[in-house]
Amino acid sequence: MSATIPPAPPAREEAQAILTINLGALVENWRTLSRIARGAECAAVVKADAYGIGLEPAVQALSKAGCKTFFVAHASEARRTRATLGTGGARIYVLNGLLADADVAQSLIASDATPIIGSQEEWSTWRALAPQRPCALHIDTGMNRLGASADEARIIAADANASAIDLVMSHFVASEESDNALNARQISAFDGLRGLFANAPASMANSSGILLASKPHYDLVRPGYALYGGNASPGLPNPMRPVVTLDAPILRVRPVKAGATVGYNATWTARRDSVLAAIGVGYADGLLRSASGAHGARAGEAIIGGVRCPFAGRVSMDIIVIDATDAPKEALKPGAMGRLLGDEITVDDLAHRAGTIGYEILTSLGRRYHRVYVS
Ligand SMILES: *Cc1c(COP(=O)(O)O)cnc(C)c1O
Repeated sequence: MSATIPPAPPAREEAQAILTINLGALVENWRTLSRIARGAECAAVVKADAYGIGLEPAVQALSKAGCKTFFVAHASEARRTRATLGTGGARIYVLNGLLADADVAQSLIASDATPIIGSQEEWSTWRALAPQRPCALHIDTGMNRLGASADEARIIAADANASAIDLVMSHFVASEESDNALNARQISAFDGLRGLFANAPASMANSSGILLASKPHYDLVRPGYALYGGNASPGLPNPMRPVVTLDAPILRVRPVKAGATVGYNATWTARRDSVLAAIGVGYADGLLRSASGAHGARAGEAIIGGVRCPFAGRVSMDIIVIDATDAPKEALKPGAMGRLLGDEITVDDLAHRAGTIGYEILTSLGRRYHRVYVS
């Protein structure tokens, strides 16, 4: 195996923007979800670098708070999670399973991680390579993505001894839509099949699933998004605390006359004499280009001197121009910070303005930020 050293994130004095990650809020969100799902164990989904906030700090904070079960997607994430947790104690489940591949299986064994298998092929691979080790089973109930079909689940059940499967799970298609009829249909399909594995604890709920009125919590819940401050019940008040704050410095302040255009392709025209502030963050840092500012369309915003100011023109790779005409003058100088994410502009808010979901905002957070972890 060739080892490469990942480049360290930029130091404070090198970075154009600062990402502050509140691990205290992360832990508080986990405790809130544990309370809501009380009676069930509350795990933590830390795939994709803990939704962009950093796998190691997230795992460390949650483990210290008492979280005993972690879900990742890839073998490499399992390895990093195990290195952070140390041996023994906490369990690591790997959502993307084994790929029915012996090398992946060996990597999981080395990390003392448990694959979530979803096919007969994966089942046979794991049984052959790790006969003493349990695995988890994902039963598909309508996503048609990963997971065993009902027929495959029956075949595996007939072949499995009682201790071979230590978690049986399924995944919601649309749990953030609390009135979607698919939720009840999936729960009923799951209830019809999980009895095949009567000794195994069961798990169904992601963040939004935890908040469903029908409380499909079973034995273990698997929140991701809500842990990181996302609103898992869109349209209702968010019971979670924001975890990320993003600040970027003003690089240039420029007064312009009405009629001046801004940025690539001149998609924005000043309708009045305006003050523009160029800030040092762009789509290469995860500020999606689809949040570009055009009159009449929902554009991204930055808070400058306490005032919400819209993006003006195209988001470019390293720079966004803000229409800061309404910001207080004293806040408009190079080096002063504009806030792009935080208590006021939430991940869900920016996502809405970029035409996407907060999950994509979080997991797109760039590698050029100076990162500050606070608790
Ligand atoms: C990502 C994922 C989760 C977590 O979902 P959130 O909506 O982020 O809470 C849970 N279960 C599975 C199978 C997943 O892939």
